[in-house]
Amino acid sequence: AKTSPIKTVNPFNNEFVKAFDVMSDEQVESKVALADAAFQTWKKTPKKERARLLHRVAQLMRFRKPQLEVLATLEMGKLLTESRAEVELCAAIFDYYADNGEKFLADRPLQTPQGSAFLSYEPIGVLLSIQPWNFPFYQITRSAAPHLMAGNTMLLKHASNVPQCAQIMEDIFIEAGFPVGIYQNLFIPGSKIDVLIADKRIKAVTLTGSEPAGSSIAAAAGKYIKKSALELGGSDAFIVLDDADLEKAAEAAVRGRMWNAGQVCVSPKRVIVEESIADLFLEKVKVKFAALKVGDPMDEQTDLAPLSSEKAVEDVMKQIQKALEQGATLIAGGHRIDCPGAFMEPTILSNIQPGTAAYQDEIFGPVFMFYKVKDEQAAIDLANDSDFGLGGSVFSSDDERAVNVARQIDTGMVYINHVTGIAPELPFGGTKNSGYGREQSPAAIYEFVNAKLIRVT
Ligand code: NAP
Repeated sequence: AKTSPIKTVNPFNNEFVKAFDVMSDEQVESKVALADAAFQTWKKTPKKERARLLHRVAQLMRFRKPQLEVLATLEMGKLLTESRAEVELCAAIFDYYADNGEKFLADRPLQTPQGSAFLSYEPIGVLLSIQPWNFPFYQITRSAAPHLMAGNTMLLKHASNVPQCAQIMEDIFIEAGFPVGIYQNLFIPGSKIDVLIADKRIKAVTLTGSEPAGSSIAAAAGKYIKKSALELGGSDAFIVLDDADLEKAAEAAVRGRMWNAGQVCVSPKRVIVEESIADLFLEKVKVKFAALKVGDPMDEQTDLAPLSSEKAVEDVMKQIQKALEQGATLIAGGHRIDCPGAFMEPTILSNIQPGTAAYQDEIFGPVFMFYKVKDEQAAIDLANDSDFGLGGSVFSSDDERAVNVARQIDTGMVYINHVTGIAPELPFGGTKNSGYGREQSPAAIYEFVNAKLIRVT
């Protein structure tokens, strides 16, 4: 099994921990059949019962938190304190859909002169959920909680480097009392996904991941006329206006960018600062960088964790190298840290020119792309000059001014005086190449239901 692509390698020391066999085509077939059979019962299961089981998952996640948090940190290297917060967030998301799902899915009356009419929200069947490693539990949760509540069943293909997180979630669903087949884990490589999308029993696909994966999965879904939702990459702008509280802005930027070792889709990747305050802001960021303690992610005193794998850190180093070759300036960091794991220095690049790779691409690591702009309009223009459109932040002491800027940013989310955040009741998703569809909030539950019209004359 050691040669299997599905394995745990601890990025803190790059040591192999455990591997899992790739499932055979026969094993996958039996899981698809089971998911489809389970749907026939699950769709008729009362919503109260579905909600009870979701609450049970939330309880079990809280109960098993010490085990879950260690697994996430072991497999992808994030700080243990971050893993703990992630598990708590997941429990809150399961509770949110358990508490509100029935209300969201209630029939919606429509006004019409033609008798009476209403929408009946009905589940569509087996969903294929493909998720990345950066929030190994949260990514599963935000796709499973609303869609299972809606009465669909789910097959999960998790990222190959977090199999133990994938496995334990399946165990938790079973322990919670979910009937077999409602939620199943698939240990398969990405190359097996197209065949599954083509399968008539699979009704839709949801992916969080990179642009190339999104494009390939959406193409397959399009070919077979199936709905897809895509949560892809981002290169969020973090705009600091000249009237912002600079200390607060610098603190938020550094925390936001260093969180999860910079491997967050909505991390503030492009810091865009009005020139009158840019140098002062930069000084504050550098002071905060110097205070970061790099080390073992299991140690609660550590501030900056390793990246998720050796390949991840190598990829970011290549991006930095290319940025420098294309004329960018290194203001801080830029190197690997001399130790066995996948560590790198917190980094700031500036003088990034339009047309270069760093200007357009997402950098998935603790790297700021720093831009000084002459005024508010230039900040908005630069923020929008990106193929991505996920989140963003505006810092200003004038809320009205900040909201006015936020309205002009072409993304799915903008937070004022805060990094782009996550909450069960707030929608999450993007525009442009960051994908389509929404997760969390009431919106998510309607992504994969048939809003069926029923008219009574
Ligand atoms: P990735 O390579 O696209 O992997 C994501 C998932 O897709 C994994 O399960 C992967 O499986 C699978 N996969 C990859 N290529 C595939 C293909 N051609 N067909 C089918 N499945 C495929 O993404 P990543 O680089 O690990 O994750 C980071 C990316 O996710 C970043 O771009 C980040 O911004 C984005 N992200 C977005 C959000 C959001 O909400 N918008 C949230 C978090 C992360 P294997 O592991 O087996 O390759």
